[in-house]
Amino acid sequence: MTQEELIQKIDILRKEKHAIIMAHYYQTADIQAIADFIGDSLALAQKAKTTDAQIIVICGVHFMGETAKIICPDKKVLVPDLHAGCSLADSCKAEDLRVMKEQHPDHMVVSYVNTTAEVKALTNVCVTSSNAKKIVDMLPKDAKIIFGPDRNLGNYINSLTGRNMLLWNGACHVHERFSVERLVELKKKHPAAKVLAHPECKAAVIALADVVGSTAALLEYAKKSDSIEFLVATESGILFEMQRACPEKTFIPVPPEMSESFDKEGNLIPCACNECDYMRMNTMQKLYDCLNEEKNEIFVAPEIAEKAVVCIDKMLEMSK
Ligand code: SF4
Repeated sequence: MTQEELIQKIDILRKEKHAIIMAHYYQTADIQAIADFIGDSLALAQKAKTTDAQIIVICGVHFMGETAKIICPDKKVLVPDLHAGCSLADSCKAEDLRVMKEQHPDHMVVSYVNTTAEVKALTNVCVTSSNAKKIVDMLPKDAKIIFGPDRNLGNYINSLTGRNMLLWNGACHVHERFSVERLVELKKKHPAAKVLAHPECKAAVIALADVVGSTAALLEYAKKSDSIEFLVATESGILFEMQRACPEKTFIPVPPEMSESFDKEGNLIPCACNECDYMRMNTMQKLYDCLNEEKNEIFVAPEIAEKAVVCIDKMLEMSK
């Protein structure tokens, strides 16, 4: 099928089946363009909570589908590719978190939403990069907290809140790759540009940023800012929406560190652009197939979902 045929057929199917297509900002441009709703993890969860669609297609990664299913157990939640995982979610296994909880029985657990349903079931309150500071600030001042799985976000929230949360040692392979040296070079070339960074980046990148925030916050800043040039340190999928919202402005992706590979002339080959391999597993063809055949449905065991929904609901309540 051509791209045009896929667009037409997906459009017909979503109407026939009363389905909503929700896409994360890190999806490819064609998927973002056809989605009914685009957002960051928090916005996707909030939208799932309020939609009256019978079928929710989550164009994102597996934990996002799980979150939607936990929030909407009676709805059919589909994902284009069931194998689209997340290196950050993978870095925190439920059995390991259970051991850490046993070692620190007086600690509560605050988990980033980038976690499996099993980890959420062991969590007191969930957060996203949009609301982590707000929620941590709202917890009792003397609360002892395990924060996981992203150590960079945890460090950043510790620095903002003055807390000393115990951090899980996980990270996102995409956000860890941004090169400090290459960012410094870019800043010299574009001295007027504002640096936008996601809090999953390393502390050295965050230290060079003018604005640190979730994808939604960075997008909002770019829209309102008087600046016309931006260096963007987050997954490059967000550039599609930034450019669509601000066609007169320039967005330059911050490059990743160089790989150890060399080309024939002996030059270092840069890593692929900072794209999330998992997010990019979704394609228009897979989106069409999952909606057409209603396949790749997400299931969460009821006993896990019952526990996991508590920390998600708490997050949604606290972030109002
Ligand atoms: S960008 Fe990082 S945190 Fe987001 S889905 Fe990909 S691996 Fe996970």
